[in-house]
Amino acid sequence: MITYKELLDIINNCAGCPLHENRINVVPGEGTLDAKIMFVGEGPGRDEDLSGRPFVGAAGQLLDKILNAVDIPRESIYITNIVKCRPKNNRNPNDNEAEMCINFLRRQVAIIHPKMIVCLGAVASRYIIGKDVKLSRIRGEFIERKGYSIFPTYHPAALLHNPGLKQVAWEDFKKIKKRQIEYE
Ligand code: URA
Repeated sequence: MITYKELLDIINNCAGCPLHENRINVVPGEGTLDAKIMFVGEGPGRDEDLSGRPFVGAAGQLLDKILNAVDIPRESIYITNIVKCRPKNNRNPNDNEAEMCINFLRRQVAIIHPKMIVCLGAVASRYIIGKDVKLSRIRGEFIERKGYSIFPTYHPAALLHNPGLKQVAWEDFKKIKKRQIEYE
């Protein structure tokens, strides 16, 4: 298997789909390679494209607050996205872009080997769990698959747009924390 650094080089030089044409930076993901929990969002937004780092904009700041509140240090996790380059105007990635890029996610999972994969939002859930899943129906429960515990929950951007979802999201993150403690 290739090393993490080799994988980053490949991701950072990818021109495999049209998203590479408009990017400022590739946003491969970041965190510890010892992570037991991997968080997967949708794709970089403007702040992420500018910085090359995942979840640093408004949604990322809310995610940081929630992680702090449940005592999951960001340094203890790995965080990435379905697509590594920003879709213009923050539109959802299309099937072609997502299916090209998800190979990188598979390789990140193979190297980091987390126990839990948290799907942040409908796009991550669609490409990780299945095309026809409805996030509101499946969120908040672990799905055991191929040795990974997959946990779909709301995307922090959805919580910013619809604060009424925060209470259930909070319950979800408490479940994530409870499972994390079991790993120790
Ligand atoms: N939204 C995402 O899905 N990913 C990021 O990295 C930032 C915002």
